[in-house]
Amino acid sequence: MAFVSGLRCRECGRDYPADPIHVCEWCFGPLEVSYDYDAIAAAISRESIEHGPPTVWRYAPLLPSDRGEEVDLGAGFTPLVRAERLGAALGLNQVWVKNDTLNPTNSFKDRVVAVALSKALEFGFKTVACASTGNLANSVAAHAARAGLKSYVFIPADLEAGKIVTTAVYGGNLVAVEGNYDDVNRLCAELAGNYPWAFVNVNVRPYYAEGSKTLAFETAEQLGWRAPDHVVVPIASGSQLTKIAKGFEEFWKVGLLDAEPKVRVSGAQALGCSPVATAFIEQSDTIKPVKPDTIAKSLAIGNPADGYFALDAIRRSGGGCAAVSDGEIVEGIKLLAATEGIFGETAAGVTVASLKRLAEEGVVSPDECVVVYVTGHGLKTLDAVQPTCGPTATIAPTIDSFTEHFDVQE
Ligand SMILES: *Cc1c(COP(=O)(O)O)cnc(C)c1O
Ligand SMILES: [Zn+2]
Repeated sequence: MAFVSGLRCRECGRDYPADPIHVCEWCFGPLEVSYDYDAIAAAISRESIEHGPPTVWRYAPLLPSDRGEEVDLGAGFTPLVRAERLGAALGLNQVWVKNDTLNPTNSFKDRVVAVALSKALEFGFKTVACASTGNLANSVAAHAARAGLKSYVFIPADLEAGKIVTTAVYGGNLVAVEGNYDDVNRLCAELAGNYPWAFVNVNVRPYYAEGSKTLAFETAEQLGWRAPDHVVVPIASGSQLTKIAKGFEEFWKVGLLDAEPKVRVSGAQALGCSPVATAFIEQSDTIKPVKPDTIAKSLAIGNPADGYFALDAIRRSGGGCAAVSDGEIVEGIKLLAATEGIFGETAAGVTVASLKRLAEEGVVSPDECVVVYVTGHGLKTLDAVQPTCGPTATIAPTIDSFTEHFDVQE
């Protein structure tokens, strides 16, 4: 706790103690963790980080939990790979992929959950809970098992089978709610008032959200302690995008970068759930809630809690925002797999297809160092690609049958 100075309202700036609370009593604005950056700057260095564990906890002084007893399944420090073939396919010279499919439960959510559950333990909660579009469910169930906490995970009943099995396997309570994510979220907000639980995306959301900053920290460290020119980030609630932007600023503030970061931040949404992209394109300040209809279920939040802040971060940085169709999402998944050997879920398809669109529109320019965040594993959303991915041919077990089907030149 050494470096956390408290919580601060993002709307009116009022300060609060670092308790399990998430809204300002004064203006109902969302609360955010505030830090003593001078103290962090004195305590942290490139060397201290490089000697830390290969997980999100190498950045502990910049996270709200640093007791040394964190919940740890090994989240974070995933590969940042130079994607030359993907770049060539899109006419871009310096594309990097942050491969967050390689987290413990195969999505970026392990970063935020590791932080949220560490904080929940510190606060003395015995039970953790969440409203989830799938990946959060996997991660909360797994980290709760690891930490010996009870869990209640709430999901829309129509979620992909791949995300139900991979949550239920960890034990805990998995509650399928007949409704969409926004219905599930509303129910959880009500339940949070009735039970003494740590809801990772309700009462401990300010702490949870901080975990996303590690995506920026790692990117800068892995690029050799410099920030990229441009990042393309998927948007569900908009928290991840907002915190990636904040992460680069914090790294600069505590003296870990040589040059002030000027990172253009672009957003990626599915056309069937694109409230932020719509506001961006219409040059509006109002995020109009939508009823999601897309195969990218992990991004299907029709009323994004941090939508306004994400929109603001995009605009202030000079980035763009794309909304791509289900067909483009499937093409995006296959393009990434075929060019880089990385199988991402539908959210990754959204991000890669958005990069393609933004490159075509000239928003991402050919010589920028651009990082795309691939935030979930393709095995979680097999249904999306199953209809168009099968054997090249089915043959009899003979040479003749093989040569009938394949005219091999080399
Ligand atoms: C949750 C999620 C995101 C982004 O979530 P935010 O709510 O915008 O922070 C991105 N990708 C995947 C795969 C996710 O599960
Ligand atoms: Zn306030």
